[in-house]
Amino acid sequence: MSLEQNLADLQKNIPSGCILIAVSKTQPSERIMEAYQCGQRVFGENRAQELASKFEKLPTDIEWHMIGHLQSNKIKYIAPFVALIHSVDSLKLLEEINRQAKKVSRVIPVLLQVHIAEETSKFGFSPDEITDMVESAAWSGLKNIQVRGLMGMATFTDDEQQLRREFKTLRSLFDQLKGLPLPQQVAMEELSMGMSGDYKLAIEAGSTMVRVGTAIFGERQPLKKV
Ligand SMILES: *Cc1c(COP(=O)(O)O)cnc(C)c1O
Repeated sequence: MSLEQNLADLQKNIPSGCILIAVSKTQPSERIMEAYQCGQRVFGENRAQELASKFEKLPTDIEWHMIGHLQSNKIKYIAPFVALIHSVDSLKLLEEINRQAKKVSRVIPVLLQVHIAEETSKFGFSPDEITDMVESAAWSGLKNIQVRGLMGMATFTDDEQQLRREFKTLRSLFDQLKGLPLPQQVAMEELSMGMSGDYKLAIEAGSTMVRVGTAIFGERQPLKKV
């Protein structure tokens, strides 16, 4: 199926309150431009340098999201322009993003990544750690950060029951945090969950942002250097 058809199908399945992030990692600029010509403006990448080089080449009205694990020493490449960092998985990283944001006089919107997968290999805070972090971090020193919500990745499985359970866990945590007295820099507005294989279940569970790559662009080519 054509990219145009894929995007049209997705738009049909995604409610208006939910944002479609086109995950363009490993895709060349020409493919991104095809999606852009179809009206897609929000793109997600998982490597900082690849993100920065695409930002430089592509139209300036694209909103770039960082969705992959981010190393502290790579923040500087994306700090000047990134629209949302989904993958904050430690307080140390949050503090470093704050430092780099300050340098470029920005407030950078981020999501806190929560470990919801029943498998063990994914990055992120545990639900308990998130609650502790929100309550105890030295927020007065984090003026250049705006936490907009949570992000999670479910287990890579076909087991719908398990996927529903994991998404529901994340949604409950999100709702629970919403009910707490939160620091000024923390708002629970966005819940980023759902990928090509599981976005429908994620939406049913209350996702506000789905990150979809393969279902738009087709299978990815093996990683190559950019
Ligand atoms: C690659 C990736 C996606 C998209 O995966 P698809 O299965 O291709 O839709 C979503 N989220 C993250 C964090 C990713 O790295």
